[in-house]
Amino acid sequence: MKLHSSPSKGSSACFIAHHWRYKNTTTKMTHQYPSLSPEQKKELATIAQRIVAPGKGILAADESTGTMANRLQKINVENTEENRRFFRDLLFSVDPSISQNVGGIIFFHETLYQKSDKGVPFPQLVKEKGIVVDKGTAGLNGTDGETTTQGLDGLGERCAQYKKDGCDFAKWRCVLKIADGCPSALAIAENANVLARYASICQQNGLVPIVEPEILPDGNHDLQRCQYATEKVLAAVYKALSDHHVYLEGTLLKPNMVTAGHSCPKKYTPQEVAMATVSALRRTVPAAVPGICFLSGGQSEEEASLNLSAINQTPLHTPWKLTFSYGRALQASALAAWKGKAENRKAAQEAFCTRAKINSLASKGEYKPTGQADRAATQSLYTASYVY
Ligand code: 13P
Repeated sequence: MKLHSSPSKGSSACFIAHHWRYKNTTTKMTHQYPSLSPEQKKELATIAQRIVAPGKGILAADESTGTMANRLQKINVENTEENRRFFRDLLFSVDPSISQNVGGIIFFHETLYQKSDKGVPFPQLVKEKGIVVDKGTAGLNGTDGETTTQGLDGLGERCAQYKKDGCDFAKWRCVLKIADGCPSALAIAENANVLARYASICQQNGLVPIVEPEILPDGNHDLQRCQYATEKVLAAVYKALSDHHVYLEGTLLKPNMVTAGHSCPKKYTPQEVAMATVSALRRTVPAAVPGICFLSGGQSEEEASLNLSAINQTPLHTPWKLTFSYGRALQASALAAWKGKAENRKAAQEAFCTRAKINSLASKGEYKPTGQADRAATQSLYTASYVY
């Protein structure tokens, strides 16, 4: 009995050609060579989940020495190593119950090797530590002032050392801008690729990479324009992460919220910001990513908390944790209360804990403002062309 009718000569040739093409493309297709062991993957996924456990976010205390100079200048405090240490000590030695609100702290290199007033090395004071590992931005020639981020040279060695010194995650910030013709295709592709290379190197060294493609708020663009740019940037970042075999379950994303440009005449409600932000994320960020920790990007402390709470209240399905990784919006009130005076230490700590609690509520969509936020909390923290 004949089970198959024999193909005609023509269709057999066609089949062979098709089969050959198929075989050829599959053998040419990128093969996933071993990169991370099951144990390494488990460790990375566990760290990432711990950082964004319910009600927790990140304190970004990794301002460079230059950025600290600007912060301290605003309160008339000299930018000495001791003053930087004192302020960080104040933040890191608040009541341990802060760990219900803050799941991790990002350090600057200098801070990782400093000690508290009581002589305890900072890494011992803070349970979940991360470290900024990039080396700042550099211009992309032939673009309208766009940049890439430097620091891949020697990154593997730096990551290995930081892991030994107690860090479990890392941060790398790329910066994009919205302007006529920006972000350009080159800036999007270059920054996506460098973030993916960084992420892959971190994971090889046991550090969870926080992937930060920040679109600056500079400009007068509207909400829709920011949403469009954010979608294009994030889509490119996740394509690059896939190309570089990055294990998404062991990463965190740190994006800008989708907001209108700083000088846009139209003002948007937190609900509008939330819809635009969550829509952009749903279109581009895979469900395997455990958490999305927003930067505050020059919003006032109050604005950043209200927007985060609204983001967590959108009726859209969201597969990831949506929380904070704020620098300015977690420290502004504390800095204003401290004013560089030792006797204000407690007041500054209280200001910091208040914001951490509010943002913890916001990360669960539960922040209801009382209308009593103090002046420091409602002041814009915007700086043009922000450098970290
Ligand atoms: P801001 O929250 O002040 O924008 O900073 C967060 C950060 O870590 C930027 O890299």
